[in-house]
This record gives sequence, structure tokens and C-alpha cells, in this order.
Amino acid sequence: MVAILKPGVTDAQIESLVRWFCAKGVETHVSKGKYQTIIGLIGDTSKIDTDLLEGLDIIESAKRVTEPFKSANRKFHPEDSTVKVCEGVAFGGGAFSIIAGPCSVESSEQIISVAEGVKAGGADALRGGAFKPRTSPYDFQGLRGEGIELLLQAKEKTGLPIVTEIMDAQHLELFENVDVIQVGARNMQNFELLKELGKTDKPILLKRGLANTLKELLMSAEYIMAGGNEKVILCERGIRTFETYTRNTLDLAAVPMLKELSHLPVVVDPSHATGRARLVGPMALAACAAGADGIMIEVHNDPENALCDGAQSLTPSQFADLCAQIRKVREAIAE
Ligand code: PEP
Ligand code: MN
Repeated sequence: MVAILKPGVTDAQIESLVRWFCAKGVETHVSKGKYQTIIGLIGDTSKIDTDLLEGLDIIESAKRVTEPFKSANRKFHPEDSTVKVCEGVAFGGGAFSIIAGPCSVESSEQIISVAEGVKAGGADALRGGAFKPRTSPYDFQGLRGEGIELLLQAKEKTGLPIVTEIMDAQHLELFENVDVIQVGARNMQNFELLKELGKTDKPILLKRGLANTLKELLMSAEYIMAGGNEKVILCERGIRTFETYTRNTLDLAAVPMLKELSHLPVVVDPSHATGRARLVGPMALAACAAGADGIMIEVHNDPENALCDGAQSLTPSQFADLCAQIRKVREAIAE
């Protein structure tokens, strides 16, 4: 971190600032120019707040030259991380997996039928919301604990590992046999939840918030990793922009950018990103070409009557066609 001081700062003021930095446990390097003095800070500057520094009378600006995320940072972990879910299903470090299933678990018949459909089509894991974060309290809120039970039945029937969203750490017990715990966009910065998930050893699918930067996404990953759980899978699911034809705007540059900044695997969810079934295929293929380590797609046996997100859901047969195309793109980029 560097702090650029305002012109005319006295030696006594500089000394007092240096003492304050030392007390915070960082070393300083003071460079006095003719017009400006710059203080370089060396060591762990994560506890120093740049906004606080910029609020001081004698500081013109303060900038971090290294990122505040450490565990997620590729600089300290140059190789890609692979997050293994179960035998044969992993993300990152060359491993690619497809997660598919309905937005929400609606009934036993529905989830078993979709699970069998997506398995036949090429899915590696089954998704399905049991606890649903809905904008309106009057919309279907999910089957909650019963939804998880139904997912477990579908897992038993098909052998597919299951991915489902947690909204409250108090529900953790219910997730004991869940293979991947999802943190949805709305909870990306629920820091208490992230801390609790950091104490588990389950893979966590961390979705980017609707209006969050990549740095904020990585800082949220850091919360989980700082607690000891390194199994974090990042998920780009579109961000809110001024565009209204699509539900969100898929930020595909996030894929190579996150992979440059971090060793963690990156998955793309083109369903929530676009909100329209016909756009899901093209964006899934583009995400693969951009280097995604996995794709998550909403699939429903009867999209027109889905309780949630029918407009963006593929049928099992559309999903199977898309999986075949994904394989072709993956082969093409591997050449
Ligand atoms: C979901 O994947 O079910 C979901 C609610 O997505 P998001 O949190 O990205 O909106
Ligand atoms: Mn959904």
C-alpha cells in the first residue's frame, strides 16, 4: 500500500503517522520528494483501511498495490485448485462438470423426473432449490427441509450428487448429506453465514451478488477460506445493469479475470444471467469458450407450469442437445 501525503506536511506529522503505521504492525518506507512525500507500507496491510487514511487531513490518497484477498489469490497459489465433489465430479484444474435441475424442488415426481432427465442428458450433478430466496414473500418459498429430503431421494435414485442453496446457518444440520452448498446472489455478503460455512468441509458454490464487484466476490470467498474451508467454487450468474431485455447481464469477462486473480474454479450460470431459455444455450457455449470450469443450468420437465423461473428453464431434451454442443466446444478449445 502507498500513502501519498499532501504538500506542506511537516516532519512531525510524518513521524506521528509513521508511528501509527508501526503500531498497526506494518513497516514504512518514507520517500520525500521536492513537492510530495510518499509512504510505502510493507507487510500485512489488510487491517489498514484506505478510506480511513484518505479521511486524514495530511493524506491526499492511499492505494493498495496488492489485493486484500490472500487465500483465494493466485499469487500465493499459482496452480489451479480442483474442488472435488465426489468420485468423478470435480471443478477446476482441468476438471469440468455440469450442474442441472429445476429452480426449485416442487414434488417427488418432478425432481425424480428431472433428475433422470438431466442424468441421461449429461449432467454431473443435480441442482434444486429447497430454500428459495424470492423477491416477493407471496411467491413459492420452497419446500424447505422436505425439499432436501426429496433431493436426497433423487440422489439415491440417480447417483447424482446434489447442489442446493442455504439461506440461514441455522439450517446447516439439514444440509448434512448435501454434496455442494450453494450461497445465492442475495447472500453473497451474508458474512455470518459465510463464516459458518468456513467451519464446514463441504464444497461451497458461491454466487456473485447482483451488484457486486469481482473483488467483493473474492473477499466473500476469503471469508469461507479464512475459516479453514478451501473448497470454494465461484459462480458468475449475471449482474444488474441498465439492460432490460435480459434478466441480468452476463459478465463473461469475469471468467478469465477471476481465473487470473484466483486459483479457485469458476462456474457460469447462464439461466439466471439471461432469464430466457433461448439465450441459455449460446451463453453456456460462450462461457465454456471463455474457460469456465463448469456450467449450471435450470432444467424443468414442464417449464410452462414451473413454480419458479419457468421462462429460463430448458426441457430435458433441450438440455441434452446443449450438453452435446458443450462437449464439442470443449473439444475445440482443448485442441
Ligand atoms: C438459484 O440458483 O436458485 C438462484 C436463486 O440464483 P441466484 O442466487 O443467482 O439468483
Ligand atoms: Mn432460479
